[in-house]
Amino acid sequence: MVRLGVVKEFEPGERRVATVPAVLPKLLGLGFEVLVEHDAGVGVFQPDSAYAQAGATVVDAATLDAQADVLLCVGPPGPERVARLRRGQVLVGLLNAAGNAELVATLAERGVTAVSLELLPRTLSRAQSMDALTSQANVAGYKAAILAADTYGGYFPLLMTAAGTAKPAQVLVLGVGVAGLAAIGTARRLGALVTGYDIRPETRTEVESVGARFLELSGVAAADGVGGYARALTDEERAAQQAALQQRIGDFDVLITTAQVPGRRPPALVTEEAVKGMRPGSVVVDLAAGPWGGNVAGVEADRTIVTTDGVTLIGAGRLPSAMASAASAAYARNVAALTAHLVRDGAPAIDLSDEIQAAIVATHDGKALLS
Ligand code: NAD
Repeated sequence: MVRLGVVKEFEPGERRVATVPAVLPKLLGLGFEVLVEHDAGVGVFQPDSAYAQAGATVVDAATLDAQADVLLCVGPPGPERVARLRRGQVLVGLLNAAGNAELVATLAERGVTAVSLELLPRTLSRAQSMDALTSQANVAGYKAAILAADTYGGYFPLLMTAAGTAKPAQVLVLGVGVAGLAAIGTARRLGALVTGYDIRPETRTEVESVGARFLELSGVAAADGVGGYARALTDEERAAQQAALQQRIGDFDVLITTAQVPGRRPPALVTEEAVKGMRPGSVVVDLAAGPWGGNVAGVEADRTIVTTDGVTLIGAGRLPSAMASAASAAYARNVAALTAHLVRDGAPAIDLSDEIQAAIVATHDGKALLS
């Protein structure tokens, strides 16, 4: 019988967990035995007793690492855990293999099979239930709109009261992939007037289909990349886009940005000048904000700053962790679907001729497999 091990997350402030008690019956029904590290679920208010009641065995970290065949995590594990992993063990998580050469090399050296979930092919229909990037981006987009509404000093909807009429907030969402569409839908449901913009022209119909307007920017080239992603812009294209956006951004009360290009630092969409052009009281939520910057100049990861002109800049790159219960429940279902796919006849079965596995298995049998 394959033993799954649910680890307590390593990164400080990470509240998510790879499996929640509500999803344990599914894992047990698939024939897995489940070990859960002590306190793994505290960030989602699930004590050890909830996991035990649902059929898991709660153990300490060292026991989990020694006994689990497949370790489930959200983010990459820390060095102490990595040093305990052994040949043939499978590690599943959002490991950021492409951006984490040192971890990949160590896992390969130790003979661990590393499954890096963010590498999953997005458009393959049989992989959709495993798509953790999508589930987490949905949470982030929803939470971004809620956070913006909570921070903004005005109403989102048009409100007519005896004390007068409140105008609806004007919300602009830049980057309308999964998170952007979730942000648009949520801001619309709160009653705001929403506009969306993306560098991929096919997003226009998606924006309009959720009841928002598409922002037309003159002089900016389309930038489709491969696999439904955008490509990085040239320096001239980026300057043209920044200039065109700068002319329009001052019309909006709330700006939510989500633009990403795979394997690159987030594109710089909004300059300092453009932020200066926003009205006092405006709110910016930058979902791309991380250690290497975000989409908006002046935003800092995990911080809220009010500029001298009265614009609130929120560096919100870790919103799934801020809504850890929903994010973990969805992630747990993604991981359950994936582990079912990785196991045959009661043992992990790595098959690199399978299209899904070929994409996500980053190390196997002592080798790093990313090209
Ligand atoms: P992402 O997080 O990589 O990027 C977010 C958005 O930023 C994208 O829409 C991208 O076009 C946009 N962007 C990048 N550079 C930009 C720039 N300079 N200006 C404006 N916008 C810019 O994207 P994602 O949410 O992970 O989605 C990636 C693709 O995968 C999309 O085409 C999405 O529809 C597709 N997808 C498909 C499925 C499916 O078919 N089941 C599931 C999930 C995602």
